[in-house]
Amino acid sequence: MKALEVNNLHKTYRNGFQALSGVSLEVKQGDFYALLGPNGAGKSTIIGIICSLINKTSGQVRVYGVDLDQNPADARMHIGLVPQEFNFNIFEPVGEILLNQAGYYGIPRKIARQRAETYLKKLELWDRRYDMAKELSGGMKRRLMIARALVHEPRLLILDEPTAGVDIEIRYSMWNFMRELNASGTTIILTTHYLEEAESLCNNIAIIDKGVTIEQTDMRSLLNRLNLETFVLYLDHEIEQLPDCGDYHVRLLDKSTMEVDKHKDHDLNGLYSRLSRCNIKVVSMRNKSNRLEQLFLSMLNNNSKD
Ligand code: ADP
Ligand code: MG
Repeated sequence: MKALEVNNLHKTYRNGFQALSGVSLEVKQGDFYALLGPNGAGKSTIIGIICSLINKTSGQVRVYGVDLDQNPADARMHIGLVPQEFNFNIFEPVGEILLNQAGYYGIPRKIARQRAETYLKKLELWDRRYDMAKELSGGMKRRLMIARALVHEPRLLILDEPTAGVDIEIRYSMWNFMRELNASGTTIILTTHYLEEAESLCNNIAIIDKGVTIEQTDMRSLLNRLNLETFVLYLDHEIEQLPDCGDYHVRLLDKSTMEVDKHKDHDLNGLYSRLSRCNIKVVSMRNKSNRLEQLFLSMLNNNSKD
């Protein structure tokens, strides 16, 4: 059984805007899954639908085998959501926010109190339990949303851009917390447009753009593809055509500039000797940065060409 199956999801908003046009996703139990995509790609719409906050136009969603159309209440019990925007009552005390959430899920008061204590302590908010939510800093509010999402101990935690606008230190402590939670068995789906975040946390990834899934793969193969680096070499004189460069993938950009693709485990010495033999000297070179960003951009470009 999968933690989440999303099949051919479509969403047209009331104003006629088609936000999703056929998104499919598969998240395994125990996954740390990234939903990556630029602003407006449709990430929050997907999440809203999974959490029954937005009505889908068509398609199928199953959460731990429970079909959303057949049993939305059961599906919801499996999910904890940390939405993109703060949506608690800022005039309510921190502790009460957790207790009320527990009540909403039908958790008895005594257990609710224990859990509120556990999660507020874990998220370093226990000392603030009597304070009104509006008195918390931005990072604390974000942590409060996470604690609230965990109070019914969901098997699947969905975080919608949890670290947007959060400073570095808090971001790293949230990363650690999410890692621990995942290690203890909770499946996590994270939306982000920080590639670094997906790279550091997630083992599987879907890239969403303009309402479609343009890539679904594991992080390792994605990173393997990124191990290909491109160097730009500047030559000491103009050449009309490239000499024989053997196995190296080279291109002439203009008469005195060439580009070579190189796997991170290979070297450039062989290429230099071949060039030397033809009396071509390399006077300088630069690394065309070729990380996730680059790949991401090229995927998005390809998607907009289709
Ligand atoms: P993301 O979370 O990836 O930034 P969203 O799912 O929030 O993207 O939005 C996807 C697209 O749908 C955007 O173009 C957004 O403007 C549009 N959209 C979102 N909510 C609504 C709505 N209630 N009515 C009309 N369009 C919407
Ligand atoms: Mg969003």
